[in-house]
Amino acid sequence: MNNLSDIHTVKRLLSRHGFQFSKALGQNFLIDPEICPQMAEASGADQTKGIIEIGPGFGVLTRELAKRACKVVAIEIDKRLPAVLAETLADFNHIKVIQADVMEVNLHQLIKNEFSGLEVLVCANLPYYITSPVIMRLLEERLPVESLTVMVQKEAAVRICAHPGTRACGAVSVAVQYYSNPQILFDVSRDCFFPVPKVDSAVMRLDIRREPPVELQTDEKQFFQLVRAAFGQRRKTVLNSLYAGLSKPKDEIACTLQQANIPTTARAEQLTMEQFSTLCNLLFR
Ligand code: SAM
Repeated sequence: MNNLSDIHTVKRLLSRHGFQFSKALGQNFLIDPEICPQMAEASGADQTKGIIEIGPGFGVLTRELAKRACKVVAIEIDKRLPAVLAETLADFNHIKVIQADVMEVNLHQLIKNEFSGLEVLVCANLPYYITSPVIMRLLEERLPVESLTVMVQKEAAVRICAHPGTRACGAVSVAVQYYSNPQILFDVSRDCFFPVPKVDSAVMRLDIRREPPVELQTDEKQFFQLVRAAFGQRRKTVLNSLYAGLSKPKDEIACTLQQANIPTTARAEQLTMEQFSTLCNLLFR
């Protein structure tokens, strides 16, 4: 089965398996023949790599990954899809399909069991409803992976890749950039999918940092608590947001901002990663 980018083949497959797309599971499948090869190539998949794919759908990206990588493990939540994948991936013997919710799989164990001696990459066209939780889980667990190459809604990609200190930056940008160096690789039009979603997408690659970009003298949890509180009320000053989000006296927060050379009128999106870490080190020492 090598023409999953052909709409007629996909429709025949749908009707043969009586498959109906689930909106709730974010099932918009890629049918543009250019995107999956481009994405698989951009992920860095080659014979030295093992790949974790999340949400293989009918297997259109899985096939491109398998053409390049030593092994692919694809995790798919939809119980109806393993039967379809058994057909569409039948010509490969180095793909393993696991029917499970990616949020419940022990990924450290999976990597140990399935990818011994291989460098590991994650590559996925992520379901939109769960983009940030999946990315944050993969990052926070400090999995031994080199990078995540993921397709997400274009707006989400722009937000995630926005540098701290710039307007589009949010708590998720700071968190993602604490763990990785993200970059948008290319945009993907909504017309590349079946069924056609309401939004455009983008592919981004998150290269995992070996060392964090700032030195924290406190618990990482407190750093992320501070970042979330700072962005908690976007239109407010960081002073007011931190006062509302942390159980600390306003005077103490104002004094700490002064010590860190941050104006009390600053907003969270104006703060750099270094300023967040300085604030954290001073507030939670
Ligand atoms: N990779 C295919 C493609 O590019 O055409 C399908 C991508 S589709 C956007 C997202 C896929 O993720 C669907 O197959 C959906 O069933 C699956 N999915 C949704 N939630 C999931 C979860 N929590 N764990 C694993 N797979 C999930």
